[in-house]
Amino acid sequence: MRVSYSDGYVVALPEGHPFPMEKFPALRDILLRDGLLRPGDIGVPAPADWDQLRLVHTNQYLDTLRHGRMDRKAERRMGLPWSEQLVQRSRLAVGGTVQAARMALQDGIAANLAGGTHHAFPDHAEGFCVLNDMGVAIRLLRAEGHIERALVIDLDVHQGNGTAAVFAQDEASFTFSMHGERNYPFAKVASSLDVGLPDGTGDADYLAQLQTHLPAIFAAARPDLVFYLAGVDPLAGDRFGRLQLTEAGLRQRDRAVLSTIRQHDVPAVLLMSGGYAPTPQETARLHAITHHEAAAVFSLPSLHATSIFPTPP
Ligand SMILES: [Zn+2]
Repeated sequence: MRVSYSDGYVVALPEGHPFPMEKFPALRDILLRDGLLRPGDIGVPAPADWDQLRLVHTNQYLDTLRHGRMDRKAERRMGLPWSEQLVQRSRLAVGGTVQAARMALQDGIAANLAGGTHHAFPDHAEGFCVLNDMGVAIRLLRAEGHIERALVIDLDVHQGNGTAAVFAQDEASFTFSMHGERNYPFAKVASSLDVGLPDGTGDADYLAQLQTHLPAIFAAARPDLVFYLAGVDPLAGDRFGRLQLTEAGLRQRDRAVLSTIRQHDVPAVLLMSGGYAPTPQETARLHAITHHEAAAVFSLPSLHATSIFPTPP
């Protein structure tokens, strides 16, 4: 699978900051080590340019961000200290999702080893999310005539409030968020479909909900392109999660989503979103599960092909 990755995805944060910045190179290293990624399949993205960002974000917000004029309150809400490197990093991550979307349209599946920054609103940053990468990618590819309809499957444990706000008036983009109802963000923004789960939800209830909703989501969305936010923060023990999934449950979750994508033969982009295990390396190891499952699901002969060509003896 081709992926987007840049060394510029990492920017220094103050000692003790809760955001696991080191998970990005750690995931790349795990994928290379596990043979899921060849060095030649890494595409280094260009930073999204300001005109592309304007497809989603307001001029006022982008000017504030670009020139470092964010006030203390806005910076606190962002959850990251402003720096020129942070702005560049955020633009690179958007560029990576745009590039991964283009690769997915060619290859069927691709990933950005970052992205899924679903708390970024058109007019402000929030919850470690500066720019809304799905929003920019969908708007840009649509403007270029590559896609019409899009589906965002957001299984990060936190509700995709920013993405819901970006696409609130967009009939051609379906947003699905399944999350902890009592977790951040406490003021939710309505997605096309929200499933809020009680604290402590475990594998069985979680997977039952997912299996119930996936077919209807695809029927309603009729997507040309799917974005899967495979956050690993629904895992039991996550620092900012409140659910109780096991690692096997996370694996089954990814298998269910990816199999459904495969069945519908729709190009898909894998994005990381959140995960707050005890170390960035452990968080990266959990994110690698999604890539292992994608390799397994997408190396299967396509249902389309097997229905036409008989299996060789
Ligand atoms: Zn999250």
